[in-house]
Amino acid sequence: MDVTAQLRKVFHVEQQLRQLKSRLTGAERFLADQDKDLKVLLTQKDTLESQIKTLVAQSSNQMGEVKRLDTKLASVRGVMDNAQNNKEYKASLTEMNTFKADRDRNEQAAKELSNKIDELRKQVAAIDVKVEERQKVRNVAATDRDSRHSEVADRLTALNAERDSLAAGISAEVLRDFQRVVEQRGENAMGPIEIVDLKRMEFNCGVCMMSIPVDQAISVVKAARVTKCASCQCYLYIDEDDAKRMATGGKPEKAPRVTKVKGEKAVKVPKKDRENAEDIAKSEAKAKAKAKGEKKAEATAEA
Ligand SMILES: [Zn+2]
Repeated sequence: MDVTAQLRKVFHVEQQLRQLKSRLTGAERFLADQDKDLKVLLTQKDTLESQIKTLVAQSSNQMGEVKRLDTKLASVRGVMDNAQNNKEYKASLTEMNTFKADRDRNEQAAKELSNKIDELRKQVAAIDVKVEERQKVRNVAATDRDSRHSEVADRLTALNAERDSLAAGISAEVLRDFQRVVEQRGENAMGPIEIVDLKRMEFNCGVCMMSIPVDQAISVVKAARVTKCASCQCYLYIDEDDAKRMATGGKPEKAPRVTKVKGEKAVKVPKKDRENAEDIAKSEAKAKAKAKGEKKAEATAEA
């Protein structure tokens, strides 16, 4: 088997491998997305919890201050109760008012902190709900990924083995480049040569639709060497039928000279087939001569 035919078989297996892997990749990606969302939620929760911790500490300081001022107020009240004169009484009253204002301010601040803490705790609770939901989705995603893995594991192993055995004999260099092209271009890594006009020897790359030189097209037909499209770098091959058409110059193998379709005029098979065959023969000769010239040049260069 020539290398291009071998590459086509490898490519066929490669496509199946890619399909299988893309199913896995989809499941992996979905799972990764869930993990990412979970991580974001848990980070938000962490931030809120550390804020709560700080506020709780502040609030507890403030409540401690309220308690301290309550004790002071009680003692000033005692002094007031036992005041000996108006001056003493007034002094204690001023002191008491100052303490009281201080106490109320601290209590108010503690209350505000407590409200803030309640609000943050509500946010944490809302995140907990989201985390729980996300966790469920994540578990389903993980199960799905695992089951897909086990579903395709055997098939992957088999296909990998098949690919390796089909690729045996292809030079490492060609194989490496081929794999690179498959990775880059996927489905478009290989393309058929399309015959645009056989008589004029016009050919296209079936992937990028750019024209292909005659000698290259012939080289592919003859399976002389691995040929890549100069425009899109895909590996070129030729369909069996097209190869036959080119080999016979477009003459159908066992086609009758005259075909008659019911209700229509008899149609003669055009004579130009013979001309095509001659054209191909000429081009082949030309390509051969060119290749020979190249070889000679190479040999000279090597020497
Ligand atoms: Zn191309």
